[in-house]
Amino acid sequence: MTKPAVATAHVTNFIRNIVEADLADGKYAGRTWGGAPGLADTHAGGVADPAKIRTRFPPEPNGYLHFGHAKSICLNFGLARDYGGVCHMRFDDTNPEKEEQEYVDSILDAVRWLGFEWGTNGSAHLYYASDYFDAMYQAAEYLVESGHAYVDEQSAEELRAARGTLTEHGVDSPWRERATAESLARLREMRAGKHADGSMVLRAKIDMSSPNINLRDPAIYRIKRATHHRTGDSWCIYPMYTYAHPIEDALERVTHSICTLEFEDQRPFYDWLLVRLAEGGMFARPLPQQIEFARLNLTYVVLSKRKLIQLVEEKHVDGWDDPRMPTLAAARRRGYTPEGFRLFAERIGVSKSDSWIDYGVLEECMREHLNETAPRRTAVLDPLKLVIDNFPADAEEQCLAPNHPQKPELGKRSLPFARELWIEREDFMEIPSKGFFRLYPGNNVRLRYGFVIECTGCDKDASGNVTAVHCNYFADSKSGTPGSDTYKVKGNIHWVSARHAYRCEVRLYDRLFREAHPGAGERDFLLDLNPEARKTISAQLEPAMQNAQPEERFQFERHGYFVADRADSKPGAPVFNRTVTLKDAWQK
Ligand code: ATP
Ligand code: MG
Repeated sequence: MTKPAVATAHVTNFIRNIVEADLADGKYAGRTWGGAPGLADTHAGGVADPAKIRTRFPPEPNGYLHFGHAKSICLNFGLARDYGGVCHMRFDDTNPEKEEQEYVDSILDAVRWLGFEWGTNGSAHLYYASDYFDAMYQAAEYLVESGHAYVDEQSAEELRAARGTLTEHGVDSPWRERATAESLARLREMRAGKHADGSMVLRAKIDMSSPNINLRDPAIYRIKRATHHRTGDSWCIYPMYTYAHPIEDALERVTHSICTLEFEDQRPFYDWLLVRLAEGGMFARPLPQQIEFARLNLTYVVLSKRKLIQLVEEKHVDGWDDPRMPTLAAARRRGYTPEGFRLFAERIGVSKSDSWIDYGVLEECMREHLNETAPRRTAVLDPLKLVIDNFPADAEEQCLAPNHPQKPELGKRSLPFARELWIEREDFMEIPSKGFFRLYPGNNVRLRYGFVIECTGCDKDASGNVTAVHCNYFADSKSGTPGSDTYKVKGNIHWVSARHAYRCEVRLYDRLFREAHPGAGERDFLLDLNPEARKTISAQLEPAMQNAQPEERFQFERHGYFVADRADSKPGAPVFNRTVTLKDAWQK
């Protein structure tokens, strides 16, 4: 019996505790679900909600998903999976300016790749906040009519000045007490395109003296003539994120709305808004609850879309899926695995206070999964010719090598052995340094899974560089044959037959930044880019590697884990990316 590739024991956390307590209290029992997102009447006529809880993953389609999003995806989809719930895949596409279809497609790809899906109970819970523009607008009219919102015609500067600071409270707007009918008329004119961008905003009417700035009559709609990637030009007013998000959650009957800590101060507004709309009969209780957790901060990368966009646009990398990038699209090309990410999410846990996770933790999770699953192969990354002078030129032997040292059930493969081989340049020293047990004149080593050889000397070019190493082999020393273990050697080196080898491009990837905290202390983060993050070499691989399929992953023995690149490999001509080395070379 083999163990599951990667065991992920569920560690409890404060969010799981909240969900478990809510389920035990029956807080969300008795909810109905109308089959699709909608206002109270949609759900009132529905069935008892088949989902015990509803969570959502709500990216804005304005960039590719990064490693931080993986934490949120594993958390939200993981809770739904573990508690008989559903996780909605929702595009938070209420900001028309930076959003694009390309991002929508890449996001769906990445979530699916991580192993999650949003089709449950016969419906695909794939939603777009822009589909809710009508409901959001209806809610805005209700707020105006019920005296909870007004149209403010102050300029942006006036609004800012009247907002107050952390220590000074704000000042009521001269428009705050205008007649409801007047606000409603203005709001309708805003929607009808009668006013210029920025000339007025709709504001919630809460409390200008609140110690929480977010409750000082926050703007909830603005005029913006921008074409939306889904709704085109049908709207010239757009809701603010903090207004849109609670409504999206309520329309979808989300129970636990999990977000990062910077939204903690928004929670009072989240609750205020939903309670007002519930009073107006737009939403039924129980209302969604917002829960905040600490975002992922990872050393040696940046996890801010703004910085990632800058890296792409200024061409510091070759695009969003450049394997050096901390995006999920890049991770996939790099050879990182979904299982590795899920293990990582479990291992780092969820907490209420910000902290930094060392990049090595993520790498170790990838190694653990790859060590279990990746077949072993031979690759010579810095080839030097080895000539076995007493081996006939046209002869050939087959050597058997296990595909996985701990998994005999994965069988063995045959490696052709011939007179000329490639070995690693660093496995030979003409004059050995102390403690060097590999090839030097007069020393014996085993060619892994093959024969024991004795080094006899080397050839050099005019400038003294070694061009070939010479040796003799012992015909009765072949690994696995009777008596072969009577040869005692200290060195054991890998090789590929020069005549049979598959020569190809291999990219050696390393961390994108050389500093743990890129751009710390006001420094330009670009100055911390690691120029060694990619090295392209020409390597010699065991012959069958020519047939590797895109995304097939291997351990190149002694070197690390590698994957056949899914973008640049051609049929019969794969190129390989180093995913991660066997050991962490960055630990101080
Ligand atoms: P960024 O700050 O990089 O622009 P974002 O928060 O604006 O990211 P969204 O597309 O709005 O990106 O995020 C979608 C979801 O992913 C949100 O619920 C957000 O809380 C979560 N998320 C984003 N970054 C992280 C992170 N570093 N760690 C954990 N969750 C994150
Ligand atoms: Mg955001």
